[in-house]
Amino acid sequence: MNHDIARKSAPPAAFHPASAPDYVPAAQLRQLQSQRLQQIVRLAYDNVPLYRQRMDERGVRPENIAGIEDIARLPLTVKNDLRDTYPFGLFAAPMRDVVRLHASSGTTGKPIVVAYTQADIEVWSGAIMRALAAYGLQAGDIVQNSYGYGLFTGGLGLHYGAEALGATVIPTSGGNTDRQIMVMKDFGVSAICCTPSYFLHILDRAQELGVLLRELPLRVGIFGAEPWTDAMRGHIEQAAGIRAFDIYGLTEITGPGVGAECQYQDGLHIFEDHFYPEIIDQDTCEPLPDGAQGELVLTTLSKQAMPILRYRTRDITSLHTEPCPCGRTIRRIHRISHRSDDMFIIRGVNVFPSQIEAALLAVDGVLPHYQIILTRQKGLDRIEVQVEITPELVSDRISVMEDLRSKLEKQIEHIIGIRVTVTLVEWHSLDRSEGKARRVIDKREM
Ligand SMILES: [Zn+2]
Repeated sequence: MNHDIARKSAPPAAFHPASAPDYVPAAQLRQLQSQRLQQIVRLAYDNVPLYRQRMDERGVRPENIAGIEDIARLPLTVKNDLRDTYPFGLFAAPMRDVVRLHASSGTTGKPIVVAYTQADIEVWSGAIMRALAAYGLQAGDIVQNSYGYGLFTGGLGLHYGAEALGATVIPTSGGNTDRQIMVMKDFGVSAICCTPSYFLHILDRAQELGVLLRELPLRVGIFGAEPWTDAMRGHIEQAAGIRAFDIYGLTEITGPGVGAECQYQDGLHIFEDHFYPEIIDQDTCEPLPDGAQGELVLTTLSKQAMPILRYRTRDITSLHTEPCPCGRTIRRIHRISHRSDDMFIIRGVNVFPSQIEAALLAVDGVLPHYQIILTRQKGLDRIEVQVEITPELVSDRISVMEDLRSKLEKQIEHIIGIRVTVTLVEWHSLDRSEGKARRVIDKREM
C-alpha cells in the first residue's frame, strides 16, 4: 500500500530561523562542542561531589579535557546515580537559580528529580522549536498537546517550545478522549503531541464517534516517550491521513527534544550542540565507531542546573554520519527500536515487544492492540500474545478465525524464532493506555 497517497499534501518545510544551529558546518560544530564540554566539566567538577569523586578516582581533572575528543575519559553516569543522590544531590546551581523542577514517575522506589535554570528552559524550548520546525510547523499552526502536564517533562516541554515557535498551543494534557476529539475537530487542530499508543486509542474512539480524522485539518503527529515501529507509523499515517514524526528525549537529559526526525523520516537528528551523543558497547562500555549498534550515551553540553556527563540511556541505536537530504549537518541516530530495559528473555532468546508488534502488523487487517503475557509452567517459559481483533475481522466460521490465529503465530515465530501462543481477544478488551503502553506482563516467578 502506498502511504504517500493517503497523506494530505505537505509543503516542504520552510526554513525557520530557530533551525540555524542544525546547519552549522561540522568543524565549527566540533569547536563549539569542545568549548561547551570544557565548561560543563568544570561546572560539574566544582559543584557536584559525585562527579568530582568519580573524576578523581580516574585521575582526570577538568584541565585534562582539551576538547570533545577527550569525552571518553570522563566517567559514565547511570540512572541509579540519580536515585542515589535523590533529591538534589546532582544539582550544580543554587536553588535561587533553579526555576523549575521535574521528576520521573518512579515505578519502583524514589523518582528521579531534575532541575532547570532559566537558561536551561530556554535551551530546552529552543530544541523543541527546532524539532517542530523540522516537522514543518510554524506560527499559525494549532498544536494540541496531549502529553501529560505535571512532573512528567512531556507536557510543559512541548508547551513552551510550541509557544516559542509562535504556534497556538491547546494544553489538553492526557485523558478524556472524547473531549480530545471534540477539541481536535472544533478548534481546527493541525498537530497533536502524545504517545503513539494513546493516538491509536484516539483513532479508535474517533471512529466509534463517527469522526473521520482524515477529513480534519490535522496533518502532523508528534509521537514519543515510548518505542514504536515503522509498521505502526504506516498504520497511523494511513488511518489518520497525517504525517507521524518521532521525537526523542529523556527526563535525565532535558525531556523531549533531544532529537527529532526531519521531513525525510530517516533517523532522528540529535541537537548535538547541546546534547552530545556517543554509542558504547553495552557490556564493555567501550566507545563504538559510527554506524555500529550499541547503547546511546548522552552528555548535556550546556545544562547549568544539573549537568549530566555521559549518561547511559539504555536505548539501543546507532549513529550515522551520512549527510541527510534535508541539509542538516547535525548527526542522526536510527529510530530507537528498543530499550535494553524492555527486552525480555524467553528460553534463552532475547525478545523485544517491537518485534512482536512488527509481526502482527505484517498480517492484513490486524491492528496493534496487543499484550504479551509471560508465564512459567513446569519450569518451561511460555509466551502468549493476546491480540484484539476488530469487529470486521470476526467471523462465525471457526476455520476462518483459526487460520488468522495460525497466521499470526507463524509470523511471530518467523521473526523471533520461537513458538508462541496467540489468543484472539475481543475488540476493546485490553487496557487502553493514556500514557505509555504496558506491553509485557511477566508472571514468571523470579
Ligand atoms: Zn534530515
